[in-house]
Amino acid sequence: MNRAVILVYHSVGGPAVDARTRRLNVSQRMFSFQMWSLKAAGYRVVSLKEILEFAGGTEKRGRFACLTFDDGYMDFYDNAFPVLKKYGYPSTVFMVSGLAGRVNLWDSAKYKNGYGKRPLLDWQKAKELSAGGVTFGAHTMTHPHLTRIPAARMKDEILDSKLEIEDRTGSPVDFFCYPYGDYNKDVMREVREAGFLGATSSKRGFVLRGDDFFKLKRMGPGPMTWLSSICMPAINT
Ligand SMILES: [Zn+2]
Repeated sequence: MNRAVILVYHSVGGPAVDARTRRLNVSQRMFSFQMWSLKAAGYRVVSLKEILEFAGGTEKRGRFACLTFDDGYMDFYDNAFPVLKKYGYPSTVFMVSGLAGRVNLWDSAKYKNGYGKRPLLDWQKAKELSAGGVTFGAHTMTHPHLTRIPAARMKDEILDSKLEIEDRTGSPVDFFCYPYGDYNKDVMREVREAGFLGATSSKRGFVLRGDDFFKLKRMGPGPMTWLSSICMPAINT
């Protein structure tokens, strides 16, 4: 059967101190197991561009998985990249470019006793990863709710993040990820006009032929959902 799924990760092997951070984190051991499972279940791991070909109706047979990492945490470099390299899997990291080399300041209201603060990739590491085959996508400059800020700032958050990442890594930035999965028609129009080929949302689901390239659904591979929603149907069909 034909199936395409975009998986969304945040931290890999990061600290998980409460329900929220546990939801946004998988251990490196679990991550390694999941990467192995994709292979065992017969998925071919492809880039977002290939997912667009699938959604656009190009005849592609088989099971396709695409790996995306939101926010650009430093633990991607330390814990996820070595595993991806081992399997030769492509991946896309959505960076919050205005905060590169700093921490997830947009979450600061949720920090608890110093926990919850996570370091983000700096430009040197991003450049190294880009040279190592990782694709970078844009996730705005500062991670705002794009539907709640003035139109001019919304436009800058989208376009400037694309331009800055392209400038720093020397590679094109073709995909965008809406912070908090928050978008409306105006936000989608700006993303299109900025020259992106597609954008990922936070809605759950598989990618289907005919899907809108600017509302791509994803699956969050939490430890409990993983086997039932990703692997078992693939093994059984
Ligand atoms: Zn985010």
